[in-house]
Amino acid sequence: MISHKLYPRGSIYLSGGMQFAENLGADWRIKCSERLQAMKYFPIDIARMDKEYTKQYGQLYFIADKQNHLQYKSNFRRHFIHADVQLVINDSDALIVLYDESVRRGAGTTSEVHEAYKNDIPVFLVSAYPDWQNEVPGWMQAETTKVFTNFESLYTYLELLPFGILKRDIYGNHGVKSQYLCSLCGDVFNKTKQHFVSKISPTYCGDCVDLITKTHEGHEDRYQFILEVLEKESIEELNQVQIQAKDIQSRFTEMGKKVIMDREAANRRRILDNAIRDQHPDWDDRDPADISDLEYFTTKVIT
Ligand SMILES: [Zn+2]
Repeated sequence: MISHKLYPRGSIYLSGGMQFAENLGADWRIKCSERLQAMKYFPIDIARMDKEYTKQYGQLYFIADKQNHLQYKSNFRRHFIHADVQLVINDSDALIVLYDESVRRGAGTTSEVHEAYKNDIPVFLVSAYPDWQNEVPGWMQAETTKVFTNFESLYTYLELLPFGILKRDIYGNHGVKSQYLCSLCGDVFNKTKQHFVSKISPTYCGDCVDLITKTHEGHEDRYQFILEVLEKESIEELNQVQIQAKDIQSRFTEMGKKVIMDREAANRRRILDNAIRDQHPDWDDRDPADISDLEYFTTKVIT
């Protein structure tokens, strides 16, 4: 975990468009870093780090042979996905996300938000769109801790947070001196009687606990519902296939019986024909079909 003694309030990863952003999205990250440092937060500016890497080792995007797509993918997996996700989950106390057009065109920011969400790392999203409820995808809204429509309101919020609350306490919770950060609404709440003495994930304030209880109790569980539907459908489909298989099997059995019966009839017929020929050698040159009208007679002959 990266920790800077001069910025003890916690490390904040700056997430946003790069591949499709102007100047790799460097400008907002530089401004944001200055403001965070002034508040004693430690910014992790991935665009700046990317440029540092390029200075030292050259441009990663162009090292790859553009015709060799597997090399491109391998390069991307190792140097972008792996490195950035590790920084988020191992070295960040929180994420600041600038949600704009360049984020919509890419996939990295969405993935970083999801990694943070999965690892109980607070996500503070600044929307470039004032109507963020309709512009930021609901999935991403749900994974954030708090949404802002401008950086100034984010800075005010971060300034007012209790010193050190973003960092995890010894139990792994985002809290300091009985004050904790609610994962759902981003408010700070006091746990008056006693501290949490184990990892609570996610951490919710009292109001959010009530709201979550109502939400959960007010609707049937969707995951459970989907599992039940899929299981019911799979059983029905299997039954259907078994019925069809039985039907096909019985039809084959019927066809088999008919083949045996036809064979037996042909055998009987050959025996009859031979019997007629034994009785009437002079008929040898005649087609057995022509003598079929004598079947009654021949039956008598051979029995
Ligand atoms: Zn809350």
